[in-house]
Amino acid sequence: MCQHCDDQSSDLSHKISRRTLIGGGASLVAASSLSGSMLGMAGSALAAGESQSVAAPEIKAHGWGMMAPGEKLRPFDYVHRSMRPDDIVVDIMYAGICHSDIHFGHGDWRKFDYLLVPGHEIVGRVTHVGPSVSRFRVGDIAGVGCMVDSCGECEYCRAGLEQYCVKSPTLTYGRNRDRSLTYGGYADRIVLNERFGIKIPQGMDLRSAAPIMCAGITTFSPQQYYNIQEGQRVGVIGLGGLGHMALKLLTARGAEVTVFTTTEAKRTDALRMGARDVMVWSEASNRKDFKPYYRQFDYIISTVPYQFNVNMFIPLLRFEGTLINVGVIGDMGTVNGGLLVDGRKTLTGTMIGGIPETQEVVNYCAERNIRPEVEMISIDQLNEAWDQVVAKKARYRFVIDMT
Ligand SMILES: [Zn+2]
Ligand SMILES: [Zn+2]
Repeated sequence: MCQHCDDQSSDLSHKISRRTLIGGGASLVAASSLSGSMLGMAGSALAAGESQSVAAPEIKAHGWGMMAPGEKLRPFDYVHRSMRPDDIVVDIMYAGICHSDIHFGHGDWRKFDYLLVPGHEIVGRVTHVGPSVSRFRVGDIAGVGCMVDSCGECEYCRAGLEQYCVKSPTLTYGRNRDRSLTYGGYADRIVLNERFGIKIPQGMDLRSAAPIMCAGITTFSPQQYYNIQEGQRVGVIGLGGLGHMALKLLTARGAEVTVFTTTEAKRTDALRMGARDVMVWSEASNRKDFKPYYRQFDYIISTVPYQFNVNMFIPLLRFEGTLINVGVIGDMGTVNGGLLVDGRKTLTGTMIGGIPETQEVVNYCAERNIRPEVEMISIDQLNEAWDQVVAKKARYRFVIDMT
């Protein structure tokens, strides 16, 4: 049982209807007011119109999570941390399923013994703003990605590179440095610092927008940093949630993309999404198989979320070419130094992207009608969807429809 639950005796499997929590959802709270009943807040002593300084209400939520690595996802009721003056509350409409959620849930990166509610690709409607909030108003549509706060003072935060905050950013779900918990997008609502809210342009397709908050920014950021240009040749390894966004975003800037996938059935999709060429590979592929691609690429972006033999791909880089890892956050295996020195090649990596750049990619996609390819599911299909992602059967992002 989660120590943060306000009712320790509550039946965990009891589903509270989202509509019940938001009091029918028919109207929105005025920006300067609080309404406990509408927001499902525990601080229900507050009357509408009272200032937030009267009390910091707790924000009740209902989501799907797990208490230990490897458990099946199941419903939980819990309470978010109390609102701060610069916080917004977002009523979640859509949440993408990222492979990182599965890594976290399986304990691949760190063990946990607390309620983990995954999900860091979120689109929803702002239902409440704190008194210091200036960027959002109640009723706005907001996106939320992998971070919900950071120190805001270090050189990286000041430069809009919050993902590299020296004190570590507060991730959308997990345990903070102060041991408090954050809960992610497989839920009805979330609270975050307004600086981490992404504005969703009017007219954008909301059902497919959520995956831009992680898959989109993670693959856009290296393209911006390395200033990948029209006509440059780029390889993309892996055609999943990240890979298909890498392909679409690279194609939009005129790069000539070759996709390396392990799934023959994805060949047609890759070509439809803009790839010039597709190679189907496996760990059993050998030098001869890759030979046609030797010294062909200015950049290779690897989106594979597991360790693989990166030595097969380094020879595919041109002189001074760069292989950018965005998928593996663990051991990358043995790298053959001889392959790097032969041609002054670079093996590097980038992590998601800062908030200004996340806003940039959302605007970029809205202006060009670049949409993640999504398959909508209901929240009770989560466990099945995770299995499908692991089996490489997602085409190309599952999105939970909470509307
Ligand atoms: Zn992600
Ligand atoms: Zn910082």
